Amino acid sequence: MQLTGELLIGQHAIKGTRDPVQAINPATGEKLEPVYNGGSSNEVEQACALAWQAFDQYRETSLEDRAVFLETVAEEIEAIGDALVERAVAETGLAEGRIQGERGRTCGQLRLFARVVRDGGWLDVRVDPAMPDRQPMPRGDLRQRHIGLGPVVVFGASNFPLAFSVAGGDTASALAAGCPVIVKAHGAHPGTSELVGRAIQKAVSRCGLPEGVFSLLYGSGRDVGTALVSDKRIKAAGFTGSRNGGMALWKVAQSRDEPIPFYAEMSSINPVFPLPEALRARGRDMGKAFVGSLNMGAGQFCTNPGLVIAIKGEALETFKQAAIDALADANAQTMLTPGISDAYREGVERLSGHNGVTELGRGPVGEGMNACQAGLYTASAQTFLADTALQDEVFGATSLIVECVDSDELAAVAEHLEGQLTATLQMDDADLESARALVPILERKAGRILVNGWPTGVEVCDAMVHGGPFPATSDGRTTSVGTAAIKRFLRPVCYQSLPDALLPEALREANPYQLNRLVDGKRED
Ligand code: NAP
Repeated sequence: MQLTGELLIGQHAIKGTRDPVQAINPATGEKLEPVYNGGSSNEVEQACALAWQAFDQYRETSLEDRAVFLETVAEEIEAIGDALVERAVAETGLAEGRIQGERGRTCGQLRLFARVVRDGGWLDVRVDPAMPDRQPMPRGDLRQRHIGLGPVVVFGASNFPLAFSVAGGDTASALAAGCPVIVKAHGAHPGTSELVGRAIQKAVSRCGLPEGVFSLLYGSGRDVGTALVSDKRIKAAGFTGSRNGGMALWKVAQSRDEPIPFYAEMSSINPVFPLPEALRARGRDMGKAFVGSLNMGAGQFCTNPGLVIAIKGEALETFKQAAIDALADANAQTMLTPGISDAYREGVERLSGHNGVTELGRGPVGEGMNACQAGLYTASAQTFLADTALQDEVFGATSLIVECVDSDELAAVAEHLEGQLTATLQMDDADLESARALVPILERKAGRILVNGWPTGVEVCDAMVHGGPFPATSDGRTTSVGTAAIKRFLRPVCYQSLPDALLPEALREANPYQLNRLVDGKRED
């Protein structure tokens, strides 16, 4: 497919008029054609108007029709073939295998949400039948279901050009909830965005849906992104990126006349706690495996293990030495953009320039452009407790080991942590009591607690929580990965004493969708 550099507004393709965005191959520095001119307020207006027009029709599509639409998007993405993989590799510097895996995850995610839509559990239908003879007051017939919030803006993430971008998790869950979506493309991979955007456009057309169900805009966040979040027809937004960017847009969302939910996934350093007995038993293996997780994808994962917290001693020294040894083989991989590479270098300089921080080791420098040189540092618990800046995310393959004198100090460090996406315990049976003391603290700090794994690698499934207290996300009550993500874009509506013919299908007495309803306090089979 020939890329055109056009904005996709409903079924139209329009050349933008504002400042251009052009992808750069981060491995070579080559500028990639075409140029993508940013959208102006005109295009923002058109996309929002179409999305608003589409909303009432789209949110009442049958469960089957909406599920088929999500499956058609997946089919159309697969139909792009190798061109999608080639463009994404060129724009991101990520390996071909990684992009292929991400395409599988993206399409799998869309199909998973199709299953969720068909199941209808998300409607959460509750029926409290009328009690006309109740004394002293009769009760009317009360029925509840969930509906989509309205048009949603999605900010594509730089580090997942497919799975968290144009047709990624935020888009899939919003479309599943019955919300039209306008994507603000990430400037790092505009060509990949266009290819996927055109696939969604085709799916909208094939399924006979109103065109405003999907639009894709390019342009700067301060300009197009802010205008979209400010528009009164937009009712929620999903974001993955930096804490500064997320908070700037969150403020825009909250200062509107009608504030809206802004689901930002921002910054997390994902503490790992190697507990004493596990360290003693397998400190060497653990140190090596830790560096494997740290350097995966040049550390550009929101779940990258950026912090290790452990009790000082011989066993920790073994872990540290194994990690230092493993760093020698931690290839310097290309980072996603020159900007992210610069930010990484600055973050490492801040860490290494800190008075209380000691460098343990660095990985190979790497020969290519924007190569990520892995790094490992250490600080005492007292240093860490004294300076919250040591909790700032260094986005890339660098981690800090915080050394504690005893379990009380380790618990104090855990208490001191900001909100996280994950917290990991490395433990053996003999660590059970130490772990039991930590879990209640970690539950307050993180969205996901893992034992004897590494935080990188997020399963897309029903039980997943990819969220957590601030600053991991702007709203710790939700998840952005997994089927529960649909809840972010829904709200309940109660219908009191409506005649059956006026009720939405899902609430009718005959239960045409065969939903598992809560009727008069009892779950139907
Ligand atoms: P970013 O700079 O936050 O950009 C993400 C999106 O937000 C882009 O579309 C950007 O628009 C927009 N944006 C940024 N600042 C804005 C503002 N003040 N007002 C309105 N819109 C704004 O994130 P990034 O480009 O992906 O990477 C930069 C840094 O983000 C990384 O170095 C890393 O620290 C962090 N990051 C974290 C995660 C994570 O999962 N924790 C993931 C990716 C990145 P423009 O196109 O105009 O820039």
